[in-house]
This record gives sequence, C-alpha cells and structure tokens, in this order.
Amino acid sequence: MSILVAGSVALDSVKTPLENHDRMLGGSASYAAVAASFFSPVKMVGIVGEDFPVDYLELFERRGVDLLGLQRAKGKTFAWSGEYEWDLNIRRTLSVELNVFEKFRPDLPEGYRETPYVLLGNIAPALQLHVLDQVPQPRFVVADTMDLWIQTAQEDLKALLKRVDMLILNDGEARELTKQTSLIKAGWQLQQMGPRYVAIKKGEHGCLLFGQGEFFSAPAYPLEDIHDPTGAGDCFAGGLLGFLATNDSFSFAELKRAVIFGSVLASFNVEAFSLGRLQTLTQSEIQERFKKFRELSEFGL
Ligand code: AMP
Repeated sequence: MSILVAGSVALDSVKTPLENHDRMLGGSASYAAVAASFFSPVKMVGIVGEDFPVDYLELFERRGVDLLGLQRAKGKTFAWSGEYEWDLNIRRTLSVELNVFEKFRPDLPEGYRETPYVLLGNIAPALQLHVLDQVPQPRFVVADTMDLWIQTAQEDLKALLKRVDMLILNDGEARELTKQTSLIKAGWQLQQMGPRYVAIKKGEHGCLLFGQGEFFSAPAYPLEDIHDPTGAGDCFAGGLLGFLATNDSFSFAELKRAVIFGSVLASFNVEAFSLGRLQTLTQSEIQERFKKFRELSEFGL
C-alpha cells in the first residue's frame, strides 16, 4: 500500500569534528521518503526552489518516489545548517532559512488524497494538520516532531496529536512535552494526549515503543562507523511506516518488527553524509542487518 510523505526538502550544510559538507540533499521528507521507498510506493509532498539541483530530483526518481506533490517555486530552497560535537548525539543548529517554505500551503494532487498511509515528517504542526485535512480516510497516520514546535507551536501540536495513530519523537522532546523525567511515564502520558502508539527514540541507545497497554524496548544497532547522524530520525519513521504499509497489519508484533526495520534504515543512513548510503543500499543488506539485530538481542532462556 502506498504512503504519503510530507515534510521539508532541504539543502543542508553539516559540520562534524572530522568533516564539513555544504548544500547537500536533506530535509525530513527527503530522508523519510527514500527510506520508506525500500518497502512501499511513496508520494512526496514538499517544496523546492529554483536552486534545487536536478541530480537530487533524479535521486528521488531512481527510488521510484512520486514527485507530483513536490512543488517547484520561485526563490531559494529551504536551507538548514548544523554542527555536531565529538559526541554525535549532540547537535547545534547554526542556521535555518525558510525561503520557499515560508508561504508553503500545499494543495494535494487529486491522486494523493486517497493514500492509506500518511507520514507527517517534521515541519510546523499547522502545516502537518493542513496536509492531514486533505486526506479524508487515512488508515494509519504517523507524525514526527521536534523541540522547536514544542516550544513555539504547542497548541497546534496538541491538536495534531488527537488525530494521529503514532507519534515519534526523541527522548529530550518527550521529557520537554510531558515535564516527566521518566521516559516510561512520558510515553504513557503522551498516549493520553491522542496517539495509540508512541515511539521515543534514544539516539544510539535504541527506542521505546508504547502500545495498547503493551511496551517494547528496542536496542540500537551497534555501529562502528558513524559519519553523519542527520536524518536518522526521519529514516527511522520512513522505514517504520514503509514496512507497516507492506503487510497492512497493526498487531503489536508487527509494530515491533516495524520499529526494528526503522532502526535498520536509520543505522545505514548514518554511515555516510546526506542520503549517500541510501543510494547504494540493497534489499539483501536490509534483511541481513535485520537478522543481525535479532541475533544481537537474543539471550536465550
Ligand atoms: P533529524 O536529524 O532526523 O532531526 O532531521 C534532520 C533534517 O531535518 C535535516 O535534513 C534538516 O534539513 C531538517 N530540518 C531541520 N530543521 C527543520 C525545521 N525547522 N523544519 C523542517 N525541517 C527541518
């Protein structure tokens, strides 16, 4: 079944203590769409400016992403820059230029409105709601968010939470939104705010999944080579929903598998800057890493 992915399409400049790269393909929708495309057909909703390189559009096309909902507007593409510390879990945003994003209020193409699975990647909650309003009967809706919206658009975010099936956010954001120090309490509290499922990401320490009275603690894949963590969260969300859409089932066992497939996609993505690793990734590598994930977390009776 197909997935609608809405979010930012960006030109990112990223600094790590070892490397520096400018104006690379980035954005929440870019990462999520490409990650989801390994499992299900994807329709993308976003906007780029006149400076957006054709090569990047071709990258989406090679992954079979439907670009009918990707507007090309006069002006410059959304641009973001960030810097990581030696502990790559710690990131500082250096600049955000909204550019064409400032006036973005997408009208979904007709063929997009019946899409069963919806991934609202990280963008302003009002924009996420605007997209969701145009999909009358979604089967499953996932929303991602970030600290900026918790601080500046909390009312919109709370309105959104009442309409989504799953919320994905990181540990710091979960604590900030619920004012809880315990992530377990935060997860159950977030569920009271609307979503049936909540996934709290803990960076290189894995992820917690909260269901209907059910709970799962997923490990992270222990990686030796991490180059750029940018987009890991978006790949997690894309991989997770992409996998769910293949089997069209929402049992807790299926959700647990989806969390692991999301983690697999995220773990590959951080091995290179931008979407470099996803461009060469194969199905057999994905399946192989899923198997390794299982082996690494099994400890017998
Ligand atoms: P992540 O590492 O999963 O948090 O996602 C990083 C991506 O989010 C980058 O590629 C940025 O272009 C994008 N991004 C950063 N800030 C924003 C924002 N305020 N709105 C939309 N996308 C953003």
